[in-house]
Amino acid sequence: MNLIKLPALIDPHVHFRTPGATHKEDWISGAKAAIAGGVTTVFDMPNTHPTTTTYARLLEKKALIDSQLKEAGIPLRYRLFFGADKNQFPELQQLHQAKALIAGVKVFMGSSTGDLLMDDEASLDILFKTCAELNLLVAVHAENEAMIRARTTELQCDDFACHSQIRSPEVAAKALSQAINLTRKYGTKLYALHIGSRLELEMLHQAKLEGLPIWIEIAPHYLFLDTTRYADLKGKAQMNPPLREPADCEFLWEAIRLGWIDTIGSDHAPHPLHDKSEAYCKCPSGVPGVQTTLPLLLNAYHQGKITLDQISELTHHAPKRIFNLPDHDDYVLVDLDLEKTVTRDLLYSKAGWSPYEGMRLRGWPIETLLAGKSYDPSRL
Ligand SMILES: [Zn+2]
Repeated sequence: MNLIKLPALIDPHVHFRTPGATHKEDWISGAKAAIAGGVTTVFDMPNTHPTTTTYARLLEKKALIDSQLKEAGIPLRYRLFFGADKNQFPELQQLHQAKALIAGVKVFMGSSTGDLLMDDEASLDILFKTCAELNLLVAVHAENEAMIRARTTELQCDDFACHSQIRSPEVAAKALSQAINLTRKYGTKLYALHIGSRLELEMLHQAKLEGLPIWIEIAPHYLFLDTTRYADLKGKAQMNPPLREPADCEFLWEAIRLGWIDTIGSDHAPHPLHDKSEAYCKCPSGVPGVQTTLPLLLNAYHQGKITLDQISELTHHAPKRIFNLPDHDDYVLVDLDLEKTVTRDLLYSKAGWSPYEGMRLRGWPIETLLAGKSYDPSRL
């Protein structure tokens, strides 16, 4: 045993699928997966059914979450992202009543799971201007929708590896440059979600050097998987934005060492295995991850790729600062020497699978303390 205590993780990017797709996840299974992964705070995304795009729906979602967490007996801490919708701009004016509930406003510049999309210049301009005035952070899913459509038609492909070519780094960079320009114009706080390529990172880093209020989130799948994995993982390697080349993955680790990265969000986006076993054109995008972020990072620590201080900075201190979260004493006790293979029986997500299955990892949580109560990851 080699026990150390780390501050409990804040995962600023999960999709717990409530309301509307609770067969994929709810806040009972989601909270268990979080706690088992040493995570006691999550930020949930608005691309649910219905979408979280009005103040009334925000409150309805909160009520559903609270009742599910009560049933789970896990008072998981959470914030919600409000969804940007060009037909609902007046709703943004109401969000000052919910400052302690919302993390910011999420905008899908390219289409992904769900119906949220804002890809026209005029609407994006209004969004960034309004959010700057209301001091709301804007979180962007940056992929250029017109380029996605054009490349889908042009490339005419039907295999999973093509996903990374359709949604290339240039597709992401095109949308990012638009978002960065709007931040430069209005001073809007910009949180760049799930960044995975060198091209995007360098562009964002340049913009940060200008002094713009920008933060960079990466996701574990861009650190631990790359385009070479389509061959064995197939649909289980499909997410938006897609996996990047091995060189991008290498650069991401370098960017951590350089201090360019602010946070790691799991982008936990569960789908059942039968959905992920479909052919490319029918397979939904997204992979589960909230439970495996910490063991993956601890294993990388043993490989000399990241320090424990960097892990705590990326998964706790930075998100706490960026999103102004209150202090608490939550922690995760990990056994740095505990070795386990990622297997389905360890996982609490309703997805029931993981892209990391079969990986032998060294360093696992053995206790999570949330609001003064202790939880054993193996008995939830
Ligand atoms: Zn996401």
